[in-house]
Formats: sequence, structure tokens, C-alpha cells
Amino acid sequence: MNSSRHKLFALLSAIIFCLSLSTHAQTNPIKLKYLGTAGWEITDGDITVLIDPYISRFKLGTGPGISPDDKRATVKRSDIAVSDTITIDSLITKADFILVHHSHFDHLADVPYIAKKTGAKVVGTETTCNILRGYGIPNEQLYPVKGGEDYQFDNFSVKVIPTLHSALNQKHYIDNRVYTEVPETPLKVSEFIEGGSLMFLARFSNHQVLTMGSMNFIERELLGIKPDILLAGVNRSQLGLYKYNERLLAITNYPKVIIPTHWDNFRLPYGFSQKKGVEDKLIPFQKDVKKLAPQTKVIIPTHLETITINERIKP
Ligand SMILES: [Zn+2]
Repeated sequence: MNSSRHKLFALLSAIIFCLSLSTHAQTNPIKLKYLGTAGWEITDGDITVLIDPYISRFKLGTGPGISPDDKRATVKRSDIAVSDTITIDSLITKADFILVHHSHFDHLADVPYIAKKTGAKVVGTETTCNILRGYGIPNEQLYPVKGGEDYQFDNFSVKVIPTLHSALNQKHYIDNRVYTEVPETPLKVSEFIEGGSLMFLARFSNHQVLTMGSMNFIERELLGIKPDILLAGVNRSQLGLYKYNERLLAITNYPKVIIPTHWDNFRLPYGFSQKKGVEDKLIPFQKDVKKLAPQTKVIIPTHLETITINERIKP
């Protein structure tokens, strides 16, 4: 080959290589839609996974978290939890799996309706599964776990990680209640007890997503885990933990992408401003991560907007 043909060949090879990369990236992006609270819809184009899908966003109590512009009826903790099926139907059409971090209402209250509607397999604690049985979800759909399991499904696998609930109530929170039997349903808001807490390492075709439903974690349970996307619990209660950001980033091996979760005011319906949460919680978190891990990108999510991550990241 003479030198000009050689150069042409090299150029063509480079173009073909780039095209193959971009084609691959375009056919396999991962898409994460923030449903608010700790809720996500994640898909790699093949498998659709919901994480703690809480869409009803009850107008709970009468405190400062409520807006006078929200004309919905107030919900008390002693009221029966009634899902907003109209909003759920407008948002959720398909799900293969639902991963539930714990059984509090802001994680589980809409799962009975969504599991029934989609037929999705649900992975959660014994308490989560017993509540769902109470709502008529069949055992074939339920995968009761404790943490430590690593389950392979078709084109999707999930490692279940034991964790701790957020240290609510200025670190005075503890609740060891569980449902070892099927409770009578429908449940009141307050009857959605924690029932133990989990994290998940959800492995999609090209990405590993580590999910959190609380502002807490057990360091040793995360040893050796290298997610490329971390849905990091960011709210207020983590401020009472020892070096939360620093320890979380180090033990998860400084993920390329971090998206804060469970930071919004979930008493407000979709469409209401969440600016205060962004300014008070997410901007300081983003700044801190920038200092601790300059290579990590913190993406601030907006309700119901889809974040698409195209590049293929080798785990
Ligand atoms: Zn909770």
C-alpha cells in the first residue's frame, strides 16, 4: 500500500470505529426518569425497572410542607392510604420489576396498584411482600429478600444490600416492627411501617445503578461495589452522620454519575416548585462532591424528566 492509500485506510478505519461506538451508544443508552421522592423509572430499552414508585404525593398533615395552592384534600397518618390512580395511569404503562427499599408509605403506598396493573415482579422485604399479599398480589410476583441475595433474571440482575433507614428525629429514630403475617388491608398511612431497609445494585445491559431509599448506608455491605451511576440519598438527616458524602463516595468507588434522590418535598403535587430543595440541599451537595471527586458528575433531577446517559461505562 502506498502512503496516501495507507492514510485513507487509516481514516476509514477510524470513521468506522467511531460510527460503531456511536451506534452502540445510541442503541443502548440508559434512561432514568425521576418520579419524585425516592422514585425512579429506569430502562435500558429492554428492561423497565421502577424504584420506590410513589406518585400519589399525599397532601400530608398541615405543616409548612403544604402549599395553600394545593387544593387537594388533606391526608392524615390515621387515614387509609388511597392511591391517585389517575396520575399513576398517566405516568406508568409498563414495568418488569419494582424494587422497594422499605415499606414506608412514601416508598410502598402506590406499589399494590402498580404491581397489579403491570404484573411486575416485586423485590422487597418480608414486610413489603406481606403488605402486597394483603392487597392480593400473588406469590409468583413477589421476591421476599433480606439483603445479601444476588438474583439473576433474564437480561437483568439485582444485588440486594442490607442498609439502615435514615437517622430521622435527630438520630432518635428506630422501628423494629415487621409484618410476619399478611396485614388486614387497606392500610392506613401510618400502617406502612419501615419493615427493614435495603439498597439495590441494579445491573442493566451497560450500566450498574446503585440505588438508595434512605440517607444512610452500612459501609462494609458496599465493599467492592463499583456502580457507574449512584442514586444518592440527599436530604437533611445525612447531615447528622459522620462524613456521609466522603464515606459514601469512597466506598462506592467514586461513581462517574451521581443523581440525588429523596430530596424533594413529597407533600406537594407534581408541577409545584422544588426550588428550595434544590438550593438548600442539592447545590451544597454538588459543591461538596466537586471537591471530593472532581471527575464525578452530579446531575440535579427534575420531576418526570428523563436523564439519558449515552456513553458506555465499563463496570
Ligand atoms: Zn422511610
